[in-house]
Parts: sequence; structure tokens; C-alpha cells
Amino acid sequence: MIKLLLAMALVSILGANAAAQEHIQILATGGTIAGKSLPSSGYTSGALPIDTLIAAIPEIEGYAKISWQQVASIGSQDMNISVWKNLYRAIDKAKKDEKITAIVVTHGTDTLVDSAFLFDLLFPSGKPLIFVGAMRPADHRSADGPQNLLDAVAVAASAEASHRGALIVMDSNILEARNAFKQHTESLGTFKPTNGGFAGELVKNEVVFFHPPVRGNDAESLFGIADIDRIADVSVMAVYPALSSQHYKDALALVGKGLVIAGVGNGNFPSSMHGYLTQYVDAGGIVVRASQVPMGHVSRNIEVDDDRLGSVASLGLSPPKARILLALLLNKNMPPRQLQNAFSCQIPTATKTCGEAQRATK
Ligand code: ASP
Repeated sequence: MIKLLLAMALVSILGANAAAQEHIQILATGGTIAGKSLPSSGYTSGALPIDTLIAAIPEIEGYAKISWQQVASIGSQDMNISVWKNLYRAIDKAKKDEKITAIVVTHGTDTLVDSAFLFDLLFPSGKPLIFVGAMRPADHRSADGPQNLLDAVAVAASAEASHRGALIVMDSNILEARNAFKQHTESLGTFKPTNGGFAGELVKNEVVFFHPPVRGNDAESLFGIADIDRIADVSVMAVYPALSSQHYKDALALVGKGLVIAGVGNGNFPSSMHGYLTQYVDAGGIVVRASQVPMGHVSRNIEVDDDRLGSVASLGLSPPKARILLALLLNKNMPPRQLQNAFSCQIPTATKTCGEAQRATK
């Protein structure tokens, strides 16, 4: 009942009156939402330009003035540092432009969560920043992209979408980037929350958030565009039963400054790996333990003695998200204990503990 009342209080009913003040910049990167069917059975991601997708939904003008930029035209399996940096520049420009009130990014769903989490860390507060994709190509007879894009614009136009970092809108659901994962290869509602619940939902034209933003309105990022380059310096290594120790010995020789272990269970790895990881840490490498299990937390010092190994537990972050956060933190030269604190923060900080940082942004 309380949840329902709170949701009702946060309902934003959008209409033609709101449209006059809103100006949404759409940044397109490709994906199935811009996919075009092939004569055979498949389709090509990112084949259609964003103006074609916008022209297919004339109702969009009822929500806001719309402008757009084609940042890339790729399947998100090809997402890379150069496109991320171009997207950073485009988001930064739109954030600083006083006329633009919100930003929507169209993106392939394969790595949408990775990008949304990256930009959540880079732009943790301020104007709404919404990521949206689709599971069916734009020319499919029941394409989901047009409604998803319209929903993303409706959320972006909502005053309640500010100061929440990057959000994902898909299949009438709103998710926090930090708390989302892709859990189905085909389903339209493929994004689900890892821990906790959805941030909100769309009911026809109504945008409903289930709780107020937990971030302050002036929360600053610790990171900038130069930190994106460091993503190449962190590898993810999956472990599995009967993995030969020669395999990870050879693989570790190729790993750069940071290693995320996509472990089993609570971020566990075969005990025969321990000696090699100790050597890697002693040589200046940083180890973060994450898990292939999609939900729950990887906690410190359970079956692995993190204090002794000098490793960091990923807590609620999946291996790909842990990779992105560790990479952005590399330039800060933090010792493992401080890194561990940064992993526990919604908005990582250089000097303060998480609690102090959250209070300072209120
Ligand atoms: N491979 C596509 C992509 O990530 C899949 C999708 O968009 O759903 O670009």
C-alpha cells in the first residue's frame, strides 16, 4: 500500500504541455533497434539511421523537441573504446547545453548494460540519461523498438528521471544501469534487476518511479574521458571445473594491470590458481573477484582470504561491470583497501568513505 502511494506520488503524467519545455537529444549507436532484415533469415544490426527510426514514431513530438546525432552504426558486440569516447563527447556536450533537458542513447542490447554502467560512472547525476534498445529489428512485423524508443523519450521527459545516473528503458520497465543484467537471448523483457527491483515502469503514457533518487543533484564523477582508455588494461578470466593450471598460467602472462575473475559461486576459483594470482598481485597486478552467478553479492574473506591475497571483492557487480569500474579506477593508484571502498559506493570517491560521500552530495 505504502509502495503504491509512493508510486502514485511520483507519477508523472506527460502531455502536450510538457513538450514545450523539453528538448531531448537522441544519440544513436546502432543495434537491433536499428536493425534491417536480410533476405535470408537473419538481420544486420545498426543498418538504419536514427532519423528513419524517429520518423516512424510521429507521436514523439508530443513529448519533447527532438534532435539527434548518429554517433555510430554498429552491433554492440563491436562496441569499443573509440566509440565510447565519441559517445562521451556527445553526452558531455548535451549535458552542458542549457537548451537540452535530457539525453537518450540507442544501443544494441548485447553490451547495453556495459555502456550504461560506464556512463553511469562518468555522469552519475544531473539531466536524465536513458539507454534503450530492442530485441527485434526495426522492420520486424512486431518490432519492439518504436515503443521502446517512445518510452525512453517519455522517461527522459519526466522530471523524476534526473539525478539517477544512467537508466535503461525496455519492455515498459525502467532499470538502474548499476543494477541491470541481460538475462535472455530472445525475450523482449530481457533486462532484469540483479539485486532489488526495477526502478520504475511505464503504464501507457505514465512514467512511474518506485522510489526517489538516492543520489544528490550535484554528485560529481571521479572519472573523465581519459580513464576510458584504461578499459583495455583489464581482462576478465572465467574459471570452470577441470581448468588446467597451464591455461591460466599462460593467460595470466598476457593480462595487463587488472584482472577480474569471473568466478564460480561467491567469486571462487580453483585453489591451484592461488599461487599464480599471488605472483600476479606481488608484481603489481590488481585482482577483483566477481561471479558468473547473476544475482547476489561476492563478499570479502569467505572461502578466499582477500586480506592475504590483496584482492578486491566485486560485491554486487558482475564481471563486465567490475572490469569497467576497476579500469576507471586504475589512474587513481589506490591501494586494495581503498579500491574495495570504491566498489561499495554508488558514486566512487577518491578520499571519502562511501557514507561520507553520499552525505556530501545531498
Ligand atoms: N547484436 C545486437 C547488438 O547488440 C543485439 C541487439 O541489439 O539486441 O547490437
